[in-house]
Amino acid sequence: MSLNCVYCKKPVFGTSGVTVPGSGPAHQHCYQAQAALARTFQALDISQLSDDELLDLQDMVLAEVNDRRRKGEGGGDSEIELF
Ligand SMILES: [Zn+2]
Repeated sequence: MSLNCVYCKKPVFGTSGVTVPGSGPAHQHCYQAQAALARTFQALDISQLSDDELLDLQDMVLAEVNDRRRKGEGGGDSEIELF
């Protein structure tokens, strides 16, 4: 049985292959090269988001960063202990 790599389309043999969830078999080196290039966070591929969704995500990330920074500056109920 031979299966083709989802990235380079060449057959994947034996133990050098990995299975990409939702896609199929791939060469380990192809998968690693793709993973290094892809703008994914956990299961989210942000290059697949629309412009509006991306801006929403950006706002959300900035709000979270600001919120944590505020807490980190000793704003009362901080869970982080600074030494
Ligand atoms: Zn490949």
